This record gives sequence, C-alpha cells and structure tokens, in this order.
Amino acid sequence: MTESGVWFAPGRANLMGEHTDYNDGFVLPFALAQGTTAAATRRADRVLELISRQRPGPAIELALTGLAPGTVAETVPGWAAYPAGVAWALREAGYDVPGARLVIDSDLPPGSGLSSSAALECAVELALTALAGADVPRGELAAIARRAENEFVGVPSGIMDQSASLLCHEGHALLLDCQSGETTQVPCGARMLIINTRARHELTAGDYGARRAECEEAARLLSVPTLRYINDCGDTARINDPTLRKRARHVCTDDQRVLQTVALLRAGDYPEVGALLTQSHASLRDDFEISWPEADVAVEAAVAAGALGARMIGGGFGGSVLALVPGEPSAICDAVTSAFAGRSWTLPEFYDAVPSAGARQVA
Ligand code: ADP
Ligand code: MG
Repeated sequence: MTESGVWFAPGRANLMGEHTDYNDGFVLPFALAQGTTAAATRRADRVLELISRQRPGPAIELALTGLAPGTVAETVPGWAAYPAGVAWALREAGYDVPGARLVIDSDLPPGSGLSSSAALECAVELALTALAGADVPRGELAAIARRAENEFVGVPSGIMDQSASLLCHEGHALLLDCQSGETTQVPCGARMLIINTRARHELTAGDYGARRAECEEAARLLSVPTLRYINDCGDTARINDPTLRKRARHVCTDDQRVLQTVALLRAGDYPEVGALLTQSHASLRDDFEISWPEADVAVEAAVAAGALGARMIGGGFGGSVLALVPGEPSAICDAVTSAFAGRSWTLPEFYDAVPSAGARQVA
C-alpha cells in the first residue's frame, strides 16, 4: 500500500470556447507545464493535515469524518475548503480516504484564470486516491473534483478545469464536448504566451451567475434546451432583448470557433487560429461583456507587435490573456509592458504556455 508520494496536477489555459461549458457546448483547453504538487504521507488517524507553501501559517487539521459542506468555511482559512472538499467528495463517492498530511506547493498564480483551484483539487485527489489504494478512472475523478468545488467550496464552475488538469496529453489540446462528456486529443504545436494582466475587478462571482441566468433565459426564448442546440447563430437575431441576443450570439459563435480551431490545428494553420482568438476576444468584450481594460490593451498591443492573435481566458473581469506568437515573443512582451507602463498599471507577467501532460505521480 502507498504510504507516501508526491502528485502533480497542472493548471490550464483554454484555447477556445469561453462560457460555453455550462451551455452544453465545446471547450478546447490544454494543460500547462505549471501546476501544483501535493506531497502526501498517510496518517494513522482520521485527520487531514494541510499545509500550503503559498499560505504561511500553522498546519490546518480537520477530522475527516466530520467533513460536510459548510463546516470548513467558518473555522479555517478559505483555501483549505479545496482539499477538504476533495476528501469529502471522494468519501461521498464511496472511496475510503485515509488520514493524511498534505503539503501543497505551486508555481501557478492564483486567481489569474489559469485554474490554480483545479490544479490544487486534482493533485490532492490523486494523492488521496493513491493512499486509499483506489484506481479511479480520470473522468470520474474530474466529476468528483468538480463536485468538491461546486458543493463544498461553493463555486458554480463547469467541468472544464478538472478535465483539462486530469485528461490532457503533452503536445495536445483537449476537445471536450460538455454535453456528451466526450473528449478528443487534438495535436497542438502552436507557440503560445500567457500574459497575466494582474488585474482583478469586483463582482466576479455575481457576474458569473448573472451570465449563466442570461444564457438560460436566451435558450428559453429560442425554445432550445441550452444554447448548444442553436443550429444557426443567425437565429439569435430572433431574440428581441439586445443584451440576451448578444449573450446568445457569443456562446453560439464561440462554440463554432472551437470546432473551427480544431480543424485549423489539425491542418497546422496557426495564423488562422490566431485570427479566431482575436475574434473570440472581440465577442467576449462586445457581446458577452466580461473583458476588462487591461485585457483589451494586452490583446491590442500583442497583436500590433506581431502576435498571430490573442484573447482573454477564464471567467472574465480579471486574470490572463492567451496569445499565439509566431516565434520568440520578447518584442510582444515589451510592447505589452510599455502599453501598461504608459497607463501606470501594475506591470503584467509573462509565462510560456506549452501544451503539457495531465496530472501524474512525480515522486
Ligand atoms: P484560479 O482557479 O483561476 O486560479 P480560483 O479563484 O478559482 O482562481 O482559485 C484560487 C483559489 O484556490 C485561491 O484563492 C486559494 O483558495 C486556492 N489555491 C490555489 N492554489 C493554492 C495554493 N498553492 N495554496 C493554497 N491555496 C490555493
Ligand atoms: Mg478556479
């Protein structure tokens, strides 16, 4: 039986398909080389002991048997809800999670749209299932980690982040059909750059919920179960309310852009993939209205400096931009940095975005 080890789960960037997941649509994330490790050691008792190198402070100790949604938030630092939620959701799914000491470390910037939350959940999940001696299929692990985030942490996110962290292959993006759950590995040799705008604007959680509600209402007006089922994006013109019309148009056109991106990646046509990225950004800015000034400036400056295309990624109102670059990106980084400096904004950070392997044991 496994007594200890180190498990790694990556963050992700989403190449195409934003706010399409909860509309039963398509997304196309890839795993990053950056991620989170959970170094785990079995404990003889039924206690989960949590330490994060990113959160200095005493170890947090939680009794496994008492875990239930709503029990952790008031008593311990908020981040502990992620690993505790995973332990709870695994037990709910019938896996006998043993007591464990978990030491977390990460090179992902949290809250930057790179899914440090799913990386944390999935690293902990692999660690706990290994200590439990359970061999759980990756698709089931993704669903369990999502349940932890939705029900225990209380974030109403889709299945994309956990699927990307667990299922991605090196050198590939993952086409995920959020309606059927079907996944397809798509070769992706594009050179990409993440621009962390280091901006986070308020009301993110509320706005996320508002967009979900608007999408449901737009689907109702079009008499389709979800926006996935629109046959022709031109049909969205039938919605009288201008806001709902724009929301539906974004979801429909971004779904199409995912499938177009897959075809272009297979053909190795990166300039056209770049053009789609920039179109997606315009749609997120003008139709879905979840972009933020730093993202708009980063996209504009990157494209002007030679990027093949760029768009905001993640839920919106803050976080990162993904740019497709034709080669060495230093001129693009310089241009974006000067655009930010000229506005006296906090300067952006840049990371290589290399499609990498999904979660695994590393020691
Ligand atoms: P994102 O997933 O885009 O990075 P989220 O808001 O979904 O942003 O998740 C960020 C949260 O996840 C942090 O506020 C923290 O609670 C938790 N988290 C992520 N990484 C770590 C870590 N290394 N140590 C402790 N908590 C972490
Ligand atoms: Mg997250």
